[in-house]
Amino acid sequence: MAELDGQIAVVTGAARGIGKSVSKRLAAMGALVLLVARDVSRLNALKGEIEVSGGQAESHPLDLLDGSAITSLADGIRQRHGRCDILVNNAGVGFIGKPLHETTPDNWDVMLGTNLRAPYLMIRALAPLMIAAGRGHIINISSLAGHNPLKNGAGYAASKWGLNGLTYSVAEELRDYGIRVSAVAPGSVNTDFGQGAKDGNWKIQPADIANIIAMLVTQSPQSFVSEVLVRPARKP
Ligand code: NAP
Repeated sequence: MAELDGQIAVVTGAARGIGKSVSKRLAAMGALVLLVARDVSRLNALKGEIEVSGGQAESHPLDLLDGSAITSLADGIRQRHGRCDILVNNAGVGFIGKPLHETTPDNWDVMLGTNLRAPYLMIRALAPLMIAAGRGHIINISSLAGHNPLKNGAGYAASKWGLNGLTYSVAEELRDYGIRVSAVAPGSVNTDFGQGAKDGNWKIQPADIANIIAMLVTQSPQSFVSEVLVRPARKP
């Protein structure tokens, strides 16, 4: 029997990059993984890949900026599965490369909407299922930019500093229900994010983040790892 047999895991930003790797890993550990992103064809391709490997997945194309789509997702999960064991709030965007005074309000809204408001909406929608079960893991993918200043990326940094504050605060709200809320804060990961994947071999690989998620969701009941900071082993 696999470690996560019978569990339901929801992964946002599953279409590519870190989310894709995390989804494959959780499925290989036995969870039924609900894949969330906008790109239907990528989600369906990943669902197929997981199933060919003997795992289980569902494709849930939606835009995380649309609060009603998140409510519908949660209603469907409640009706079909009646549980949610793992939520990985991974989807994120960064408009990086300009000082704040040149950042457009539209770009600001998309960054804060995707990186901070969407995790709030996902927790609002799915935490009640975890509370009812008296167990669960919520993992928010933050960034080292949520700890450090990021010149020409103030909006992105603000979203991740905010996500860290949300994570640590919600962890206190939910820990009495047996729910652990954690942040994973990577440095540069070899994905399409931001500057893209060119010369990315020195970077952290998406599978390295998947390893950390696997560790977080299989902690002993006594332990609560509240945050993991992940740096590339060497600089470019
Ligand atoms: P990525 O390859 O660009 O993937 C981002 C994912 O988010 C995609 O699956 C994308 O799918 C989804 N997404 C974006 N906007 C969405 C929306 N409105 N609704 C639904 N899904 C949306 O990025 P990544 O590198 O894997 O990053 C994942 C997380 O790690 C992000 O939170 C990022 O901030 C964080 N992070 C990344 C790095 C890095 O160096 N790569 C470093 C530190 C932290 P669709 O486009 O199909 O919607």
